[in-house]
Amino acid sequence: MSHPARSLPFALLLALSPTLATASDARPDYYPTLADQQTRLAIVGYRLTTANARWCDDVTPQPGWILGDLRQFKPGDRAAASKIYQAGDGPFIAAVVPGSPADLAGLTRGTRIAAIEGEAVAPADSGPTIRIDTAIVKLYTIDPTASWTVTDNTGRLYRMPPAPGCASAFRVELGGAQAAANGILVRITLKLARSIADDEELAAVVAHELAHNILRHRDRLGTDRSASRLRQTEFEADRLAVWLMTDAGYDPAAAIRFWNRHERPLVRAASHPPRSERIAAIESEIAAMQAARSDGAATRPPLIDAPPPLE
Ligand SMILES: [Zn+2]
Repeated sequence: MSHPARSLPFALLLALSPTLATASDARPDYYPTLADQQTRLAIVGYRLTTANARWCDDVTPQPGWILGDLRQFKPGDRAAASKIYQAGDGPFIAAVVPGSPADLAGLTRGTRIAAIEGEAVAPADSGPTIRIDTAIVKLYTIDPTASWTVTDNTGRLYRMPPAPGCASAFRVELGGAQAAANGILVRITLKLARSIADDEELAAVVAHELAHNILRHRDRLGTDRSASRLRQTEFEADRLAVWLMTDAGYDPAAAIRFWNRHERPLVRAASHPPRSERIAAIESEIAAMQAARSDGAATRPPLIDAPPPLE
């Protein structure tokens, strides 16, 4: 685990690149479906981050929530969204993981968050997700082994029990890349989440994105994002995901099922390996992990401590 008192540069906060969503083509079940997929992602993300905390250098409190903001929706869609979330203006709880700190503290869907550790999460900036992102960044400053507080918009105080986890937040997006990781946030689209009925396969996708964050791929790539270096990060994420899934109690072979079933690649680019190569790499990593752990000890994933240089 890492030292809790860190501050992230504001540039990183701005790099979270929000997307403004429209539900103009939405069916009547659109918002309930979004809320359901947020809950699925919250559960999978919470399980992966907390179960793997011992392997992660950067550890933050994992609240067991996904936050929402009506500003994420176009003005004409906000009334429909607020019916599902029972939320007004301000960042609110969009999903809660059963048994998580948010659940144990009494936070429920729609609760509006005014402050974390007494500090307001409502900057003047009007960006669609800036208030959510402020809350995410705030978590980086909290000791993950201690309890902490959330204040709702009525002034009620919630005491959050500690639940250390790998430092990543999660968001269901309504547009943009199907799945992405930017260092501190894992995003998947509603469309992709809906297309994956099996929670283990969803965990495979989320574990891959989480692995990008744990392996600091954004930082390690820097400005040299050549195809060969990007491909290497894809294989690294596939390989670490095998360990992350296993240690969170998921079947790592679900990643192979996902790729076999997912005929169209998530990203059509020279930077992303063909799925046959991905499947082969995942199969060999499962075998390597089983060999490394043949004595029954849960050895540390070797990629975390000694990733080969990107070239
Ligand atoms: Zn990737």
